[in-house]
Amino acid sequence: MADMTEVSMDKIVALAKNRGFVFAGSEIYGGLANSWDLGPLGAELKKNIKDLWWKMFVEQRPDVVGIDANIIMNTKIWEASGHLKNFNDELVECKSCHERQRGNELEANKGKKLDDIACPNCGKKDWTKPTMFNTMFKTNLGPVESADSTVYLRPETAQAMFVDFPEIVRVARKKLPFGIAQIGKAFRNEITPGNFIFRLREFEQMEIEYFIEPPKTKKDWEKHFDSWLHEIHNYLKALGVDMSRVKDVDVAKEDRAHYSERTVDIEFVYPFGQKELYGLAYRTDYDLKAHGLTYKDSETGKEFIPHVIEPSLGVERTILAVLLSAYTEEDLPAGRQGRLSGEKIEDTTRIVMKFPKEIAPVKVAILPLSNDPKLVKLAKEEVWKFLIPWFATEYDDTQSIGKRYRRQDEIGTPFCVTVDFDSLQDQKVTVRERDTMKQERINISDLEYRLKDMLDWGLPEELKS
Ligand code: ATP
Repeated sequence: MADMTEVSMDKIVALAKNRGFVFAGSEIYGGLANSWDLGPLGAELKKNIKDLWWKMFVEQRPDVVGIDANIIMNTKIWEASGHLKNFNDELVECKSCHERQRGNELEANKGKKLDDIACPNCGKKDWTKPTMFNTMFKTNLGPVESADSTVYLRPETAQAMFVDFPEIVRVARKKLPFGIAQIGKAFRNEITPGNFIFRLREFEQMEIEYFIEPPKTKKDWEKHFDSWLHEIHNYLKALGVDMSRVKDVDVAKEDRAHYSERTVDIEFVYPFGQKELYGLAYRTDYDLKAHGLTYKDSETGKEFIPHVIEPSLGVERTILAVLLSAYTEEDLPAGRQGRLSGEKIEDTTRIVMKFPKEIAPVKVAILPLSNDPKLVKLAKEEVWKFLIPWFATEYDDTQSIGKRYRRQDEIGTPFCVTVDFDSLQDQKVTVRERDTMKQERINISDLEYRLKDMLDWGLPEELKS
């Protein structure tokens, strides 16, 4: 089996494109600077990743509620939060070829002063003086363009959780500590987007603002911080992310946002280096204070400004870590025979996306052994029809069975159901498991419950066979 850290970006990008997970956006017009669209499988994978987060962090937590707020918000919010003044990147431009870079990032990556760094494009060392570039996207609300109508696309989902705080306290009937969660688009006019879907200008975040009482001691906030770090790790494990590539990095004081008392970057070892996957920050009372908001304890009547712990997770970086972790290559003996079809299989490498079942884009593939009308009829009318209401399924009767298995392995489908000529007699089908390739004959009438069991739906004992 291939060492997973050796999986190159080229392989992942090629698989993502070939199988329709992710491809370049606006491609027929020559693309648009690092924009990527998700195809049918990518959309399904992304939905499953977000659903799992929502389930683990909202539905299964009595102390967290979800919201779905506007992307465009009142500009006063960005003034108060400090984004208009501070959400900047340091822009430098090569005087020779006009390549634009983030000055501070170049210096940090190279460990040298800007004057000693060669332009990655033309090799000259002749940069402009750094200027501050606000990375929020500006647009206009309404038909008349004026200073008053300027609005911004949110660069993070978090601010909605702060400004909606009083309304949530009123309706959710939660007492501290409690969190407000949201999944949604965020936009940043990044100077250097790139590395496939790692750094984008339009992306999605899954964020929680967890409100706690003003801590009396360090321990009072640390226990929440540690518990969120633990929860993030649990989420990564549930996603099947290779934990040996996950590194928690305490961010030094000089590199933290000014309001953060502690930040841990949860980093991942991508093929292009170890970089941020998620962030966890203790934001003190900075945010609610900035918006002039307080909380009144209904029992004691005491009014105060809650403090905030913020786990902030990017969806696309999660997709990338999941794809890189799931990718597996296996060597199989050449010239072996397909068990069902008897066909000779010459291919020796099996590529398998070992997604955990819960996030696999397709759960069950229904594959008649051939496109013989009797098999197609049985597969469609007696098998597929009864699985569709329960599982994300794919029906496929093109190509040889070996090639179809290979395709399902490559898109990470946990189970393939094959309908063959014996099925016409004994009303049984063959269920093949993705990782072990083990095959089992199962009665068509038991299939729905057996698959639910095999997909870990947690069935009551009496329904398990
Ligand atoms: P970076 O240092 O990589 O620019 P950041 O520290 O600015 O990231 P945060 O502001 O902490 O990122 O955002 C929280 C999370 O949102 C990140 O951990 C990441 O998962 C995601 N994220 C941020 N910027 C981008 C982007 N341009 N493209 C994709 N995901 C992003």
